[in-house]
Amino acid sequence: MPLNRIIPPPPGKNAAWNAREKAGGRTGAQAAFAAWEDWMRMAIAEARKALRLGEVPVGALVVDGAGRILGRGFNQPALSHTPHAHAEIMALAEAGRQLKNYRLNNCFLITTLEPCLMCSGAAVHARVEGVVYGARDPGAGCAESCLEALDLSFHNHHPWHMGGILEQECSELLNGFFAGRRANL
Ligand SMILES: [Zn+2]
Repeated sequence: MPLNRIIPPPPGKNAAWNAREKAGGRTGAQAAFAAWEDWMRMAIAEARKALRLGEVPVGALVVDGAGRILGRGFNQPALSHTPHAHAEIMALAEAGRQLKNYRLNNCFLITTLEPCLMCSGAAVHARVEGVVYGARDPGAGCAESCLEALDLSFHNHHPWHMGGILEQECSELLNGFFAGRRANL
C-alpha cells in the first residue's frame, strides 16, 4: 500500500477536507483511503451484476472531481459477444456520453480489478485524472503487475494511480467465481 505517496483528495472532497482530516489526527493518506473505499463499494456492486449474469465479476465507475457518478459498468464480453466490453470500457463510454466528450478531464476511473492493457490504454486516451483499483492482477494487470501501462514515457498523459482499495473484497469476489466455475467443470 503506497502510503508514502501523495494522494489527491477523493472525488467530492477538497484540499480543505484533507487539512481537516489531518487536524483530526488521521494522515491525509489514511483519510483518503477511507473515502476511496466508499467509491469502491459502488464498483463492487457493479461487479456483482456481472456475477449474477455469469460473467467474471469486475465492476467500474467513473466519478468526476465533484463526486458525481458519470458512468458505471460491469464486465460483459461473453454476453455481448464484444471483446472490449470490460467494466472499465463500459464506464468510460457512459461517462463520455454524459459529458459529450471523450476526454474525461478531472475524472477518476475506479475499478475492482487492476486494469488490463486495453483498459489502461483507454484510461490514458480518456485523459482521466486517476485510476483507483481494488485487486491486483498478477496475470494480466497493466497498471503495475505485468506492465506499467499508465506510465509509459511515449504517452503524453499519465494518470495518477493507486491499487489495493478493498483488495480483499474485490479478490474474494473473483476467487469465488473461479472456484465455482472449476467445481462445475
Ligand atoms: Zn480491461
